[in-house]
Amino acid sequence: MTRKFFDKKLVLATHNKGKLAEFSGLLAPMGVTVLSAGDLNLPEPEETGDTFEANSALKALAAAQASELPALADDSGLAVTALNGDPGIYSARWAGPEKDFLAAMQRVEDGLHAAGNEDRSAAFICVLTLAWPDGHTEVVRGECAGKLIWPPRGEGGFGYDPMFMPLGRTQTFAEIPADEKKTISHRALAVEAMLNKCF
Ligand code: IMP
Repeated sequence: MTRKFFDKKLVLATHNKGKLAEFSGLLAPMGVTVLSAGDLNLPEPEETGDTFEANSALKALAAAQASELPALADDSGLAVTALNGDPGIYSARWAGPEKDFLAAMQRVEDGLHAAGNEDRSAAFICVLTLAWPDGHTEVVRGECAGKLIWPPRGEGGFGYDPMFMPLGRTQTFAEIPADEKKTISHRALAVEAMLNKCF
């Protein structure tokens, strides 16, 4: 049975200030105090899972157990249809330690050519897990479908944004204003699903 969130405090299992601000804003209407794993000095577990679900669950459970508070964690990435879902959970890793996303986007483009496939569809995926210290978890998924363009376009956003055009749009995620991207992104859809499910 779905467990509802009745607590007043929630740990966001991320050390990323951008994600903390974005998720705190989305959760603000629920009157929840959001603490970050960074604030609480919680260790960052290694992402050893082989699905978005497994990685978000291991991050949420580690934070919930260490803080003894409910914790929310996300795992996200770009899944390219013609590449059988790659880079997927490896989206950040494809950019290497230098976080070179131009190289990562080139790798996607080269992969599409090598696949010799006209299909340029892709989706950004965000899986959110809400975990309690007793080990109970609730999981939701947000997906934003689109197609990949080349060459990349736009100065905004981050990661693979300059080559991703959401369905029904003529601008890439890097060209769409940040305030608007926030309302249509895979993260926004996942948070909405979690709010509907557990809050
Ligand atoms: P993580 O969820 O912080 O592990 O992020 C996974 C990776 O997916 C990021 O480093 C980006 O490469 C990619 N990614 C996730 N969301 C987005 C997005 O909204 N735009 C562009 N890239 C994204």
